[in-house]
Amino acid sequence: MMMENMTWDEFEEVKKKADTVIIPVGSIEAHGKHLPLNTDVLAPVEISKLVERKLNEMGRDILIAPPINYGHTFVLNVYPGTINVKAETLRAYVRDIIEEFAQEGFKKIVLMNGHGGNVYPLIEAAEESVEKYNVEVWLINWWIDFREDILNICTSQGHAGEDETSVIMAIKPELVKMEKAVGEKRKYEVRKIRKDVGLELFPNGVNDDPRGATKEKGEAILEVVSEKIARLLGV
Ligand SMILES: [Zn+2]
Repeated sequence: MMMENMTWDEFEEVKKKADTVIIPVGSIEAHGKHLPLNTDVLAPVEISKLVERKLNEMGRDILIAPPINYGHTFVLNVYPGTINVKAETLRAYVRDIIEEFAQEGFKKIVLMNGHGGNVYPLIEAAEESVEKYNVEVWLINWWIDFREDILNICTSQGHAGEDETSVIMAIKPELVKMEKAVGEKRKYEVRKIRKDVGLELFPNGVNDDPRGATKEKGEAILEVVSEKIARLLGV
């Protein structure tokens, strides 16, 4: 059930049936010249919808909250179209949202994250909230938590890479410009924090070779990830 389409009295009814809410969290940022700026929003929103469908089949109801579009994205901020929210701002903002849902009576809050830079602020937001409220927060980072499954489908994964490009081809193929898809895997031995490090680490906003991406791989990733999350939530 999509919260954004409900009236307040419908929402009140949903609370009687669902004790879990999924909040998709994304980022507006450069994803190469072949993927849209809201790639990290599209993926977690789609995964959330698939999880809901599977839970419904198990006879379970769940609420999907409107997504948090903007995230913390320091490294990619060297590219136009990246809108970076400072880590402390995101932490406080997400904490307030978690606490509002806790006050509404939800017992489990799932942060369905689509972006690496959000991980630490989201953990901190959750830690602050659970200190105050009797609520459990799950942080799901689909490309990390299900990496093994993804690497059974793709030969590599990375920012705007084979896995992410495949997923967007499955969700919104009309937004993918495969003729512009190029890139390679780049890694540092240690984490270097420098204002323009994104130019080196993510040339053109890519860190992986996206050219092996296909719609079928994306569908397979979405299926395995959503199936596993639904099972975890269904018990
Ligand atoms: Zn991404």
